Amino acid sequence: MKDKKKIAILGSTGSIGTQALEVIEEHSDLYEAYVLTANRQADLLIQQARKFQPAQVVIADESRYAYVKEALDDLPIQVYTGVDALCQIVQNDEVDIVLTALVGFAGLRPTVAAIQSHKMIALANKETLVVAGELVTRMAMENHSAILPVDSEHSAIFQSLMGEQSEIEKIILTASGGPFRKYTLDELRTVTPEMALQHPNWDMGAKITIDSATMMNKGFEVIEAKWLFGVDADRIQVVVHPQSVVHSAVQFRDGAVKAQLGVPDMRVPIQLAFSYPYRLASSFDRLDWYKMHDLTFEEPDLGKFRCLALAFEALRQGGTMPCVVNAANEVVNLAFRQGQCGFMQMPEIIERTMQKATFIKQPTLDDYFLCDAQARHIAQELIN
Ligand code: NDP
Repeated sequence: MKDKKKIAILGSTGSIGTQALEVIEEHSDLYEAYVLTANRQADLLIQQARKFQPAQVVIADESRYAYVKEALDDLPIQVYTGVDALCQIVQNDEVDIVLTALVGFAGLRPTVAAIQSHKMIALANKETLVVAGELVTRMAMENHSAILPVDSEHSAIFQSLMGEQSEIEKIILTASGGPFRKYTLDELRTVTPEMALQHPNWDMGAKITIDSATMMNKGFEVIEAKWLFGVDADRIQVVVHPQSVVHSAVQFRDGAVKAQLGVPDMRVPIQLAFSYPYRLASSFDRLDWYKMHDLTFEEPDLGKFRCLALAFEALRQGGTMPCVVNAANEVVNLAFRQGQCGFMQMPEIIERTMQKATFIKQPTLDDYFLCDAQARHIAQELIN
C-alpha cells in the first residue's frame, strides 16, 4: 500500500487549518497531519495534537511552550516553540505538503524555508505572494517547488486552466463585495468592527473578514493572481458577484470563458490542493441548480472601496510597494478591530504610508523585512 502523504499545517488552529484537518479526517487513508502549529491558542493545539497524533507541534508564542509541552508529555510528540522552529519544521524530510494557513507577513519566512526544501506548497497565506510574489515564485521555479492555490478564487482559476495550453486573455476574479456593498460613503463611516466581522457568505478568520469588508482582500487576490498565473494587472478584472457561486473564471483568446462554480466551502480547494491532479470524493454540500435564481455580476466601486484601488496601484508600482501596503494594512486592520481607527481611516492611513515609505524597485528578501518593519512603524505613528 502507498504511504500516506504527510502534511504540515502551519496555522492548524485557524479557520483554514481546522477545515484542513476535517479534510484529513475524511481521507485518513491518504493523508496524515504530521506537523501542527499555532500562535497562541494552546488549548486547541493540544486538543488537535491528542486527536491527530502528529509527530511534531509548534506553539509560536514562547510563553505557552511549557504548558503545551507538559500537556503532551505522555505522547510521542515533539514540541517546539518560536518562529525559527516554524522554518525548521517544514524542512523535515518526512513532510510532503506544507499548507501555509497562518495569517499575515508571518507566513513569508516559513514558506520560503519550505520552498528551499523543495516541498509542495498548498498556499492559503496570500500575504506571502502579496509581499514578495516575484521573489517567491522565482524561488519556487528554481527549487522545483509547486505552489498550489488554496484561496477559492485562485483554485477556481487553476481549475479553469486544467488541460489548457492556450494563453490567458483575461482573468475574471469574482468578489462577494462584502457586507457593505450597498452602503453610501456616509454609511461606511459608521461601520463598527462587530458589523464588519459578519461576512455574508464565508466564515473566516478575523483579519481576512475585515479585509473582505474593505475589499483589500480582493486587491491582495489580484496581486496573488498576477504571481500565480503570470498575468498583468490590466488583464485581471474584478467582478462583484454577491452570491459567491462562481468562484472565478478565465477568458481565453477565442473569447471562451471557463469558470468553476460551487457551494462556498473552503474544504473543496483545500482538498484539491492536497489531491491534485486527482479529485477525491467528498460529502460536502452540492449546488442546487433549481434554487439559484439570481446570479448577478457588477462593477466594484473603487471610489467607495479605496483599498482595492490602492492594491492595484501598488501592483503597478511593483518593488516593495505591495509589501508596504500589506504591512500598513495589517496595522490598520488590527487597529480597527481594537477600536483605534475608523473603517474609512484604514485606506487613508495605508495611502499615506505608501507616500512616506522608502521604495526599493528590486528588493532582496532582507529588504522586504526592513520594508515591512518601516511601513508598520509609519502606519502606527499615523494612527497614534
Ligand atoms: P485565522 O486567523 O483563522 O488563523 C490563523 C492561524 O495562524 C492560526 O492558527 C493562528 O494561531 C496562526 N498564526 C497567526 N499569527 C501567527 C504568527 N505570527 N505566527 C505563527 N502562527 C500564527 O486565519 P484564516 O485561517 O482565516 O486565514 C489564514 C490564511 O489563509 C490567511 O492568509 C488568509 O488570507 C488565507 N485565506 C483564508 C480563507 C478563509 O476562508 N479563512 C480563504 C482564503 C484565504 P492562533 O490560533 O494560535 O492564533
